[in-house]
Amino acid sequence: GHQESFKMENSAVTVAVRVRPFSAREKAEKATQVIFMNGQETNVQHPESRQSYSFTYDFSFCSVDGDDPTFASQKTVYKTLARPLLQRAFEGFNTCLFAYGQTGSGKSYTMMGFEEEAGVIPRFCQELFMKLASMEDEEVKCHVEMSYFEVYNEKIHDLLVTREEPNQKKMPLRVREHPVHGPYVAELSGWLELGNKQRATAATGMNDKSSRSHSVFTLVMTQTKTEFVEGEEHDHSISSRINLVDLAGSERCRTAQTSGERLREGASINKSLLTLGKVISALSEQVLTRKKVFIPYRESVLTWLLKESLGGNSKTAMIATVSPAGTNVEESLSTLRYAQQAR
Ligand code: ADP
Repeated sequence: GHQESFKMENSAVTVAVRVRPFSAREKAEKATQVIFMNGQETNVQHPESRQSYSFTYDFSFCSVDGDDPTFASQKTVYKTLARPLLQRAFEGFNTCLFAYGQTGSGKSYTMMGFEEEAGVIPRFCQELFMKLASMEDEEVKCHVEMSYFEVYNEKIHDLLVTREEPNQKKMPLRVREHPVHGPYVAELSGWLELGNKQRATAATGMNDKSSRSHSVFTLVMTQTKTEFVEGEEHDHSISSRINLVDLAGSERCRTAQTSGERLREGASINKSLLTLGKVISALSEQVLTRKKVFIPYRESVLTWLLKESLGGNSKTAMIATVSPAGTNVEESLSTLRYAQQAR
């Protein structure tokens, strides 16, 4: 509605928080619920200190109906947070959506989901191609390219390059010549699946590595319009980059790692997440004060990779995911604080 678009206009970053339902294990352990949401407000009741904390975000994804919490659907999250970014992309803005939170809090459920419970990325692609297919205006040609990278230990890995076919590269998905969108979504899903499979094992062969790397899914959409001015043909192109990012588990940012590979890994995750936080709050400050602020893009590989799509002509959103359980309260508080400083 009106309120939502107003928000998007007036702040550099839109911040949402999503709490997941209890897992079967948490239920079996009779976990206590410590996260409560009401409108834009998120409240935390610390199970030991009994202290309560209150945070305000643009959106809180959970509505409490009496004593019975109902959780926001994938569709609601998509419609509220991601669909406005799709609209912005068509207007020529670059966009970024980040999922931040501890491992197991619901980042990949939110971004990728699975089959009927499709998350932001598949829904975004589906709607993008539907929109392209329905664009009647023959004057506008559209061309979309996708890439899918992983950042691990301050190094970038292309998830669409396989060892069997090392030269296979991101392909342009041309839509204009083929108005039927189905095959393109199917083709894109195939690449996405390949990337996800590679993400689990690519650099180190460790299968829980996905919690220690950032994944960056990018679409670059170019709209070209041909105009005739005094009999001469002129092409105008606008390009929009759309980045949908599933960040490494935020707990690595805090846990003391003792030595070797884990130490290096912890330090680099720390660096990326801290730098991302600094970049986002510097961008917010810039919008608020209308003064030029130093933005430390170069301090981490992740922010360097996203430089073009953060700040300037771009729209950024973040979804912080938290567990509802008392056992995770410290991590949840740290996630909520991170999200708060971004806003
Ligand atoms: P992360 O990517 O942050 O490590 P996951 O997305 O893998 O966490 O979520 C952990 C588990 O919780 C998964 O089994 C996932 O299906 C489930 N889950 C997460 N968020 C939700 C949600 N909002 N509704 C239902 N199940 C969820």
